[in-house]
Parts: sequence; structure tokens; C-alpha cells
Amino acid sequence: MQIKTHKDVLRHTARRLAVAAGLTIVMTTTSLLLLLGTDFSATVSVGYVIAFSLCIATGISSMISGAFSYRSGLLMRELILTRSELSRISQTDQLTGLSNRRGFDDAACAALASARARNVPVAVFLCDIDHFKSINDRFGHEAGDKVLVEVADVLRQLAKVDDVVVGRHGGEEFAGLMVGVTRDQAEQHAEALRTACAARAISIGDDVERVTISLGFTVSCADAELSELMRIADRALYTAKRRGRDRVVQADERSLAA
Ligand code: GH3
Ligand code: MG
Ligand code: MG
Repeated sequence: MQIKTHKDVLRHTARRLAVAAGLTIVMTTTSLLLLLGTDFSATVSVGYVIAFSLCIATGISSMISGAFSYRSGLLMRELILTRSELSRISQTDQLTGLSNRRGFDDAACAALASARARNVPVAVFLCDIDHFKSINDRFGHEAGDKVLVEVADVLRQLAKVDDVVVGRHGGEEFAGLMVGVTRDQAEQHAEALRTACAARAISIGDDVERVTISLGFTVSCADAELSELMRIADRALYTAKRRGRDRVVQADERSLAA
């Protein structure tokens, strides 16, 4: 029976109660008849009847409540598993398997909070595939999807090594957050990402394509809001695009002014 409405819940409860009451009546009557016989005018000891009735009542109620508790325990477990699966699906990008924007934002906010507690800086990266539209235009949308999967794989590999929170932030943009890194370390990581992407040979039909990415990043104390850090990294990314793509730009006043 599928429980969808409040009425279904009441109907379900009424059925369970009817089963419990029915079982109790049948089992109590049968047991008493077996023990005391069917001579309804016979004299029996009150203590004997009380002791026996208590045994039967305890046995029946334990059995029924045990069975119902086990059943509701199974249902609760199913509910929790379903909820966590739904939460995983809602936070995962179906194409690349990376966190989607919602998943990234949640994980990045948690990492930011831990950085704040430890009083260490964070680095936020935003990267974007260069001339991605032309891949779609020349080879089709499926080829574009393949490129997205390959770039996501490069990100995933590097994220594993350096413990970075990464996600697909939308379209052909990916985001990352690192905790407790210096500016130099963040720049090294961004450069490693850029060169790894450029080095990845992507086979599309008979062709082997290579794509480049542009990156903007910022390093800040963890007091800042994630949205503010993303906005700053996005400006640096824009500068990287403007300067010719396939490069890393760190967000600071000097570099962005250029
Ligand atoms: P730039 O170097 O300035 O970033 O140029 P670009 O061509 O990469 O950027 P633009 O924003 O013009 O194009 C992004 C394209 O990404 C447009 C959109 O159709 C495509 N796109 C977004 N999401 C997907 C997707 O999931 N799959 C595919 N195949 N294409 C996508
Ligand atoms: Mg692009
Ligand atoms: Mg873009």
C-alpha cells in the first residue's frame, strides 16, 4: 500500500490496529479455552486466571509490538536511504559526476567554516574552457559533452591529490576551493590544472583534440563570504580571458588593473 496522503496514514493505522486487536482476541480466547475448557460455569482460582492472563497478554503485546516496530524500523531505514540518495542526486552533476553548483556551494561553505575555525586562508578558483562553443559547433553537442567529462576528470584527479573541493559551477565553468594554502601554492595548483588540461588528449571521432582553460583565483582570509570570493575569482577569470586565454590570473588590484 502506498502512503501518499494523511488519509492513507489513518487508513494504514486503522488496519494495523484491527490486525493487532484481532490477533489478541483470537490468541487470548484460544489459550483460555485450551487451558480452562469450555465449561463456562466451572469454578476456577482467581490467582490462576490472573497469572495466566498476564502471561498471555505480555506474550501477545510483545509479539505484535515487536513485529510492528521491526516493520517501522525497516521503513525508516528505507526513508533515510532514499533521502540521502535524493540529496546526493540533487548535489551531483549528472554529466561529469562532479558536484553541481548546489553541491559545490554546500561543500565550499563547510570548508570555509572549517578554515575560519582554524584561522587559515582559503583559495577560490574559477576556470572556464576556452572557445568551448567552437567545439560544439565543429563536432556537435555530444563531443562538447565529452570534453566537459575529460576536463572534469583532470579536476577530479588534481583535487584528490591536493584535497580541493571542486564542482561544475555551470555550463563549461568549474570551481575549486582549497584550505590553508599560500598564494604561491594556490598559483602552483592553478598552473598544474591549466597544464594538465592542455596536455589531455581528447579523442573525438578520428580526431584528437586538446582544449585549454583560463583560470582566475583569489586567496583570502576565511572571514569572507563564498559569494564574494567567487565574484573576485570571476573578475580574475575575465581578465585571463581578456589577456588571451590559456592562462592563470590571480585576483589582486595590480593584476586586475592591467
Ligand atoms: P570563451 O573562451 O570566451 O569562454 O568562449 P566559449 O566559446 O567557451 O564561451 P561561450 O560562453 O561563448 O560558450 C559556452 C558554450 O558552452 C555555450 C553553450 O552552448 C555550451 N554549453 C553549456 N553547457 C553545455 C553542456 O552541458 N554541454 C555542451 N556540449 N555544451 C554546453
Ligand atoms: Mg568558455
Ligand atoms: Mg563560460
